[in-house]
Amino acid sequence: MINHWIVRLLDFLPRNLVWVFSKRYIAGKELKDAVSVTRKLNNQGIKATMDLLGEFQTRAEKVQYYKDEYIRLIETSVENSLDNSFSVKPTMFGLLLDENMCYANVREIVAKAASLGRFVRIDMEDSQCTDRELDLYRKLLNEFPGHVGIVLQAYLKRTLSDIKNLVEFDKGRGLINVRICKGIYNEPAEMAFKDKEEINLNFLIDLDFMLSNNVFAAIATHDRKLIQGSYVKLKEQKVSHEKFEFQMLYGVTPELRKSIVDRGHTMRVYVPYGKDWYNYSTRRLRENPKMVSHIIKALFFRG
Ligand SMILES: Cc1cc2nc3c(=O)[nH]c(=O)nc-3n(C[C@H](O)[C@H](O)[C@H](O)COP(=O)(O)OP(=O)(O)OC[C@H]3O[C@@H](n4cnc5c(N)ncnc54)[C@H](O)[C@@H]3O)c2cc1C
Repeated sequence: MINHWIVRLLDFLPRNLVWVFSKRYIAGKELKDAVSVTRKLNNQGIKATMDLLGEFQTRAEKVQYYKDEYIRLIETSVENSLDNSFSVKPTMFGLLLDENMCYANVREIVAKAASLGRFVRIDMEDSQCTDRELDLYRKLLNEFPGHVGIVLQAYLKRTLSDIKNLVEFDKGRGLINVRICKGIYNEPAEMAFKDKEEINLNFLIDLDFMLSNNVFAAIATHDRKLIQGSYVKLKEQKVSHEKFEFQMLYGVTPELRKSIVDRGHTMRVYVPYGKDWYNYSTRRLRENPKMVSHIIKALFFRG
């Protein structure tokens, strides 16, 4: 209840105050901030996936700007020998306005990354984007095999069938690379599980299918139960280290993250940055008011 009231007050809070809440989860406003955070993570044996903030673009000039910024990001990462991949949100490139424009822009980014031996993951947005983002993934996978991945959300009832379709599409090449996460958007009950236990069960069913079908699994969660459940599946199926990694968000559960790294597993941290931090933060808070408690806790407790 309190969370909902705070979310309602967001529009009246000064940006500087929202920044105080948000900065733990965002590398900074500039590219150099993301470089510095990624370097620190790399020094701790952790990989990163760098994400330029900005979603749901409606203006073509802005799309061009974001594309150029991603190209600059890729070049800067390579110049600095950082160990990271890149995450992109297709609505930033006009997915919902003009799919061809979006494809052309994301294609340029993936082509640049691939030419430098790097990897790009297409983040999954709300359910109006699911089919479009899967289509985009399949197209780019054919053009840049081994350099592009997708995200699927365990709360969606369709996800297992989406993974099965991707495996069929792959025809045994072993190129499918999926980040499996719970999902952050508010989706209607007809299409999404709402109960936490049900989402967790689906997460592990999806993961099990991925591991037994030669799909690279990026296991993205901070939920201890799911991490334990994943360990069991990885052991049962004797999955080799090249076929999975764990992923977490920057600023979230660093102790749990360390415990996974200490076991010798690959860990990749999602590092968002950019001038559009405000919309990203407030949208996340509105979508998931439970985040408010995490943020309030983060103000008082560290680690
Ligand atoms: C690397 C990565 C990429 C992602 N990409 C996408 C995507 O493309 N599309 C999408 O829909 N969703 C994405 N998500 C978000 C994801 O879907 C979940 O909403 C989010 O990870 C919270 O789920 P959880 O599995 O951590 O479980 P939860 O049950 O939400 O959290 C488990 C525990 O983690 C801690 N925790 C979780 N979040 C926070 C926080 N913000 N601050 C402090 N503690 C916290 C709490 O202790 C909590 O009890 C991504 C998540 C990660 C880690």
